[in-house]
Amino acid sequence: SEERFDAIVVGAGPSGNAATYTLAQAGLKVLQLERGEYPGSKNVQGAILYANALEELIPDFRDDAPLERHIVEQRLWTMDDSSHVGMHYRSEDFNEDKPNRYTIIRAQFDKWFSSKVKEAGATVLCETTVTELVRDVRGKVIGVRTDRHGATVMADVVILAEGVNGLVGQRSGLRDIVPPDTVALAVKEMHFLPREVIESRFNIKGDEGVVIEAMGTITAGMTGTGFLYTNEESVSVGIGCIVSDFAESEVTPYGLLEAFKNHPSIKPLLEGSECKEYAAHLIPEGGYHAMPELYGDGWLVVGDAGQFVNAVHREGSNLAMTTGRIAAQTVVALHRRREPMTKANLADYRTRLDGTFVMKDLKKYRGIPGFLHRNRQVFDLYPKLFSGAMQTWFRVDGVDKRTKQKAIFNQFRGGRSMLGLVGDAVKLARAWR
Ligand code: FAD
Repeated sequence: SEERFDAIVVGAGPSGNAATYTLAQAGLKVLQLERGEYPGSKNVQGAILYANALEELIPDFRDDAPLERHIVEQRLWTMDDSSHVGMHYRSEDFNEDKPNRYTIIRAQFDKWFSSKVKEAGATVLCETTVTELVRDVRGKVIGVRTDRHGATVMADVVILAEGVNGLVGQRSGLRDIVPPDTVALAVKEMHFLPREVIESRFNIKGDEGVVIEAMGTITAGMTGTGFLYTNEESVSVGIGCIVSDFAESEVTPYGLLEAFKNHPSIKPLLEGSECKEYAAHLIPEGGYHAMPELYGDGWLVVGDAGQFVNAVHREGSNLAMTTGRIAAQTVVALHRRREPMTKANLADYRTRLDGTFVMKDLKKYRGIPGFLHRNRQVFDLYPKLFSGAMQTWFRVDGVDKRTKQKAIFNQFRGGRSMLGLVGDAVKLARAWR
């Protein structure tokens, strides 16, 4: 069967849905293919939804999107085995008419997003896996082959929103295999608790929510982070580390999550809960330097497939939606001018992206993944030193404060040479710049 479309989108995660929605709204004939039973069935996320990126597409999404809690408090923790040192920010300003960040449950959210995509007029086909791209003699992508009896579908352009593995792109020779030191493996559980228990435990009311992001000895010397997010009647808890670190380590992802849940700072928050869901998923964390080619003759890459994640700020879905929207806008503009979807024309996608927070942030943070990978003391030594310093400072034991100050200074000196301390600060400042 050879029905023709203006565009085909591979995948129905946030990037694919944003792209398909934008194309359909502009009146293009668009087909979206998703291998899962329904959109969201295969997707895992913490999950925090950043309103801004979705507002660009669906300004009144708050009317009917399945949102859990809006975030009023952010906790950043560095942890050693028995303690955490935290920076908490809570503000009544986050109780606004149109809150900025929400916790969501991806399976429900993706289903809702997909209903909007269908309303906009796109054809959405689930339980269909794209096996490879179809190209003409010159190599231009002109369609896709699917696992439905090997059927092909033709289109002017294909948007690859297939997620972190980028298998279709890889199989079609558009990109290399994703290197294991540029992806994190995250495991996550949902722990159910009565609403009132969550609210009293986290000091919140109504739809308010709390986010905890954590790093330290919880990742057993590997590069990674842990998190805990409050949903309406559950708590999402998870931890993730770079895949190549897991490969070198004895620790299993599940073992790491068990230990994190049993940490004295986390355990009381989960006490009495019922765990109903366990999931594992990869996160692209290589940043700017790990980005594959983003466009070519007849194709574009969006979302996780393009490594569009800001791991430091734990932003992914918003970059996914923004790249999906901008790729689609590029296609719509060319379509309206009746210009072909050549590599030269699709280069406009990159130009447009360069003007957004997506590329600006990825560029700004380009040195961070390498810094974290080469400087494991960030995850091990420093959290221990911070904890030691706090303990020395807060324990009232008849020792005068000047002596305590000296002791703290000596703890740091004992843990890392003066040169090492200064060097780390300089390296971090450079990477952050
Ligand atoms: P995906 O969501 O992975 O969607 C890809 C889709 O393509 C899937 O539905 C898949 O089934 C389909 N597909 C793949 N191959 C094919 C094929 N060959 N044929 C047909 N369909 C195919 N981001 C945030 O913004 N906030 C967070 O709090 C957050 N927390 C996270 C926590 C965890 C544990 C993880 C793993 C990720 C988290 N992220 C978070 C990142 C975020 O989930 C991703 O950046 C985002 O989902 C990327 O969207 P995407 O559409 O590009 O890819």
